[in-house]
Amino acid sequence: MSEKPTEDPTQASGDAPAAEGDDAGPSKKALKKAEAKAKKEAEKAKRAAEVKAREAAAKAAAGGGEDLAKDNYGDIHHTTKVDAEKVKLKDLGEQHLDKTVKLRGWIQNSRMQGAKMAFVEIREERNWSIQGVMAVSPEGTPVSKQMVKWTGGIRLESFVLVEALVKKPLEPVKSCRVSDYELHITKCYLIASGPEVLGMTLGAANKAVASFEDEDETAPTEAVKELSITDPAGAPAASLTTHLNNPVMHKRAPVQQAIADIRMTVRKLFAEFLESRDFVQFEPPCLIGAASEGGANVFGMKYFDKHAYLAQSPQFYKQFEIAGGRKRVFCIGPVFRAENSNTPRHMTEFTGLDMEMEIEESYVEVLETIESLMLYIFRGLEEKRSEEIELVRSVYPSEKFLLPEPGKEVRLTFAEGQKLLREEGPEEYRNVKDDEDMSTPQEKALGALIREKYKTDFYVLDKFPEEARPFYAMEDPANPKVTNAYDFFMRGQEILSGGQRIHTPEALEARIRKKGVDPNSTGIKEYVDVFRSAGVPPHGGGGIGLDRVVSWYLNLPSVHLSSYYPRTPKRLLP
Ligand code: ATP
Repeated sequence: MSEKPTEDPTQASGDAPAAEGDDAGPSKKALKKAEAKAKKEAEKAKRAAEVKAREAAAKAAAGGGEDLAKDNYGDIHHTTKVDAEKVKLKDLGEQHLDKTVKLRGWIQNSRMQGAKMAFVEIREERNWSIQGVMAVSPEGTPVSKQMVKWTGGIRLESFVLVEALVKKPLEPVKSCRVSDYELHITKCYLIASGPEVLGMTLGAANKAVASFEDEDETAPTEAVKELSITDPAGAPAASLTTHLNNPVMHKRAPVQQAIADIRMTVRKLFAEFLESRDFVQFEPPCLIGAASEGGANVFGMKYFDKHAYLAQSPQFYKQFEIAGGRKRVFCIGPVFRAENSNTPRHMTEFTGLDMEMEIEESYVEVLETIESLMLYIFRGLEEKRSEEIELVRSVYPSEKFLLPEPGKEVRLTFAEGQKLLREEGPEEYRNVKDDEDMSTPQEKALGALIREKYKTDFYVLDKFPEEARPFYAMEDPANPKVTNAYDFFMRGQEILSGGQRIHTPEALEARIRKKGVDPNSTGIKEYVDVFRSAGVPPHGGGGIGLDRVVSWYLNLPSVHLSSYYPRTPKRLLP
């Protein structure tokens, strides 16, 4: 990886602190922040007061008369037993009608209707939820008035066990995914209570992130959309900071779970395709003794009495495997970049999907393999994850990811891409040059042109200028101004860099010198020695950023939404 020189961090970062406390008084940004904080505090206090009032009413109601249903509700006890058949909401069907079942889940919504009836929504997993109804029995059991009050007072996002009769509702319950059945609850036990006030409600967690300001200042802010999951308080959308500071609620949101499932499917499809083409998986180290690829952008740390670094790519190790006699290899793992880039495309730790293979005739074999691999992943997602894709779209609207028709894949040379930009792109790109690397806005403009012209969101730019590629990139023997190296794009954004690598020590040493690097420096010498120690076949490969593939496929505003625990210059927790 590291196929391109690093982005200028001074351009990317926007974390200059706002000037506060000078003669002119607090800055606009500080005032806005303070105002938002005060509003949030007031909302929190209001919600706390409402919860307290509900709990007090429930307590008061439970005070009088003998409770004939007292064993059917309350905090769960080690002796509590519910014998009914366990159901999964996604399997619930006509066969369960009028049968007693049991279910564990989270209370995502509740309301009292008078003193004798409570409605709760129970969510089992992701967005599988069902309406539960609890009505006082005329005989005071199995459901008493106290039981209804107690159930109506359970805090949101508490985890409960219920026993219930499956019934048809009078009309479909629109707010729940299971809309054709409801549960008439006869037992309800609290397994784990939610807090008095949630740091972020499920409704807010399942809305599009409202602002990225504090995490990365260049991410676009998407319009907030109303969702299928009802939010009793009609919670406003939250900022990315609120999401990431409330990891549990962030993760409970169906949209985040759908993204996570799509992510794991990409990973699986990547391995599945390569294994079907005789690639073998291997495991490169994360801890390395020398800042391999030129020394920039690596995290260093104390390592006993020495110094160690976190690997910024598995590049050299993939090549060691090829040198070691493996014909085709791949690896999946964390990659670390010490770049102060606060952008929607960057993290300091991301997951790399990397591959490397022997070349028989031409590096185009590698390019074709990766192209087929990506198309396999995109088609696999359409087939296996259409439901999750739709769910994500209901929150983050996007146009369908356009794929080229078979046999009509788009491959342009870098120079052809620049020409297209010069001739048909925005005014500011009239004079772009064939030997200058592209900026991100330039790449996006080209992506839009290609979408319009070729009806695809996926394409390849090949033959990158020599200057834009690292020392191990093979120059084109027919034109040394360019390399046998390519980038792959999704919706106008880079997701992969790769190419043919130099495999003879003489050529490698010469290019290392040409790049102004000492071939005898630590890390580099060991790398060149690999090619001296035995004959290594021609080879090439590429490194894909998993987080970007998922984010750009779904048209998310930032890679931070597809990562499980984003690591950025500003965030190391949770
Ligand atoms: P960029 O120019 O966008 O910073 P790069 O040229 O440094 O990327 P490579 O080193 O070639 O990227 O890495 C290969 C792939 O790894 C990229 O195409 C991208 O998908 C992913 N990637 C690189 N850096 C990051 C990062 N900081 N955060 C997330 N993904 C990244």
